[in-house]
Amino acid sequence: MTTAADLLAAVRNHVVRQVPGLGVSVETAIARALPGLRTNAPGIPLGRAVTIVEPLLDRLRGMAGVSWAEPAGSLRRGEDMVGDIEIVAPAADPRTVFDDVIALPGTGRSLYRSARRLYVLQDNVQIGIRCPAPEAGGAILLHLTGSPGHVDHLAAAASERGWHLEPDGLRRHDGTPPIASTEEEIYTVLGLPFVAPELREGDDELDAAAHGTLPRLVTRQDIRGDLHMHTDWSDGRDSIAAMARTAAGLGYEYIAITDHAGHSAASRNLTRDDVGRQAEAVAAARASYPQLLILHGCEVDILPEGTLDFPDRLLEEFDIVLASLHDRAGHGADRLLRRYGTAMRHPLVSIITHPTNRLVPHRAGYELDWDQVIAWAVETGTVLEVDGAPSHLDMDGPLARRAITAGAQICIDSDAHRTDTLGRQMDLGLTMARRGWVEPRHVVNSRPIADIRRLIAAKRSR
Ligand SMILES: [Zn+2]
Ligand SMILES: [Zn+2]
Repeated sequence: MTTAADLLAAVRNHVVRQVPGLGVSVETAIARALPGLRTNAPGIPLGRAVTIVEPLLDRLRGMAGVSWAEPAGSLRRGEDMVGDIEIVAPAADPRTVFDDVIALPGTGRSLYRSARRLYVLQDNVQIGIRCPAPEAGGAILLHLTGSPGHVDHLAAAASERGWHLEPDGLRRHDGTPPIASTEEEIYTVLGLPFVAPELREGDDELDAAAHGTLPRLVTRQDIRGDLHMHTDWSDGRDSIAAMARTAAGLGYEYIAITDHAGHSAASRNLTRDDVGRQAEAVAAARASYPQLLILHGCEVDILPEGTLDFPDRLLEEFDIVLASLHDRAGHGADRLLRRYGTAMRHPLVSIITHPTNRLVPHRAGYELDWDQVIAWAVETGTVLEVDGAPSHLDMDGPLARRAITAGAQICIDSDAHRTDTLGRQMDLGLTMARRGWVEPRHVVNSRPIADIRRLIAAKRSR
């Protein structure tokens, strides 16, 4: 049987091979042609796509003759599953750029090459590189980034203002050349502020832009610390000291070491006997990295009755307690909801990690009454997490937006299990949060550590 996914793969291959001059990305073309089509598109998980594309972007940005380089499509918008990996890198003369890309170690077969387009295989993933003329780069990036809904709304806004938004830029049809060199310029000419790619979903973002109510999205510079990471005391790879050193290098003011406590599904957990010894190890790391404040925390499992998998007298010894449901099979929605309710009312629980417990790309998250969970978070002063681990990306943008709209506080964490993912997974968490219209004021770890200590103490004294 031919599935929609097979069909989509066939169309994608066909279009890439046969219609290289197509002005939009393949995913955009398909979405336009078949707007109702829901496919299990054979996509690439966002975390993997970012890992593959970032080194190439860095190389392109350093090449002579390349004005700038940006990913496009669903990757730039930060969707969980990326359709096509495409990069826009304007250059007056793409020949040497393409020669250099093909010569890079790690670049596999070249699948297709024309004057301004190159498709290569990297890590068995197809990557398209477009090098438009610099004066056309912004328009191409805008169209390839989409979403189709956003571009359609922008085209409508252009018409209202006497312009025509076309694949090669913003035109007047009076013989003057199109406005196309940067996206910023296109938005500005239409009297709109720049709309961040993570917001371009074709929802209400252009209304917000027109009314001056776009969010001031949280950025990496706003993040002062990371409240969720694992070490070799549980299932992490690296030591407390190594994680501290890397976190200090990222410019953080504070971190929390939060190994799995109790009997979670992790391959190794912190035992009751470990707690005191780990506290000493944290104290030793504090002495080595005095510029970084290190909280001794844990990520404890929520048991079937909603109680926690460590006794309170032990949990009280931690500076911060994160709680999570790690169940694979889970229970019915009512029972899960009750477990969350009980755990969130627990005075020692400051943060609920990866609340939907989805597993990208294999398992969807719990289907719960999220408005109730969010209401409890507000009522009990419990923080909801946006977890940047590639398999979590949890909460996702829409749920994070519901949470902040209802007044919940969130944190954005890496949930890193090794030093080399501390930065990248924080960035993935930020991408999810930005897709949720999250501003620094909603994010507890954009605040000084004293504020976070106050928040923990306030709940503990309830
Ligand atoms: Zn976890
Ligand atoms: Zn964790």
